Amino acid sequence: MAKADYYETLGVGKTADEKELKSAFRKAAMKYHPDKNPDDKEAEHKFKEINEAYEVLKDPQKRAAYDRFGHAAFEHGGMGGGGGGAGGPFGAGGMGAGGFSDIFEDIFGEMMGGGRGRRSTGGRERGADLRYNMEISLEEAYAGKTAQIRVPTSITCDVCSGSGAKPGTKPQTCATCQGSGRVRAAQGFFSIERTCPTCQGRGQTISDPCTKCHGHGRVQEERSLSVNIPAGIEDGTRIRLQGEGEAGVRGGPAGDLYIFLSVRPHQFFQRDGADLYCTVPISMTTAALGGTFDVGTLDATKSRVTVPEGTQAGKQFRLKGKGMPVLRSAQKGDLYIQVQIETPQKLTKRQRELLQEFEQLSSKENNPETSGFFARMKEFFE
Ligand SMILES: [Zn+2]
Ligand SMILES: [Zn+2]
Repeated sequence: MAKADYYETLGVGKTADEKELKSAFRKAAMKYHPDKNPDDKEAEHKFKEINEAYEVLKDPQKRAAYDRFGHAAFEHGGMGGGGGGAGGPFGAGGMGAGGFSDIFEDIFGEMMGGGRGRRSTGGRERGADLRYNMEISLEEAYAGKTAQIRVPTSITCDVCSGSGAKPGTKPQTCATCQGSGRVRAAQGFFSIERTCPTCQGRGQTISDPCTKCHGHGRVQEERSLSVNIPAGIEDGTRIRLQGEGEAGVRGGPAGDLYIFLSVRPHQFFQRDGADLYCTVPISMTTAALGGTFDVGTLDATKSRVTVPEGTQAGKQFRLKGKGMPVLRSAQKGDLYIQVQIETPQKLTKRQRELLQEFEQLSSKENNPETSGFFARMKEFFE
């Protein structure tokens, strides 16, 4: 099912800024809100679409991925999902987790004068994990390779070294909470603690924000990485590059980058672990009289297969060590060649005569399976 373009869903242009997005989302969300449209399935669907679109576009990280790859960017979104598969090369980690309530807190919480209560521990936050979908050929999985990938991510701002404060100035300890990020308030007999509304739990305030990152401490950048793909890697493998995800916030640790690897199906070979399988058609006469044929293998050489006289369809030949490398070892699997016998078609008059003559000369010994089978079947049913 084709998904509507996120920008169209919100009714904004591709260059819409944060403010435009927010106001377009607010208007649309109000209009299609389920409370205002009870029992209206179409409005409900529209409401979900609007939420999804805004969830992606409000996040510079996800928006960059969407601009670049479209919906494919999120097709395998969400960390820890099943393996590989073809699709978008990039997905933002943690998509869809609690999207709705977060948005409502952002938008409507603000309208009601509430703070943006963000889970945080003294302002240090671990950067998000990133996911990159990579597809390689079976030949590349055989040989291994070093892949250069480009990942849109946010990195620590080099101007302020991630503090968010203009060089020469320093973030100030928050006067409201004295840096703890939490404030206490008495309520009847109880004393309750909540996130500091002044610093949103960071414990620090920035009076002079860095001009490059506007106080975020991080900037968007496309990073080039080289990834080592070992020989023998299997479809669906997940490679974790520790600390190569998004930069952390205010000195928090960086997230991880996960490469989800899929191996494209091959035209001739099917793979099962380290073993490869290939079906090869041979002519009826080769099967009957015997012969040879050559098969190309992934080590870029050729192997000769000898077909003995009287070879039956489905017969398997094993080429030892001609399969895939076993990961992190010097071993290799085998290549199994299964023959399929092609019955001749479009016979000439002469060919037909020869085969008819052959048929007349045939005995039960030529086709023991065929005559044996019908004899047994006859016995069974009589
Ligand atoms: Zn900065
Ligand atoms: Zn504070």
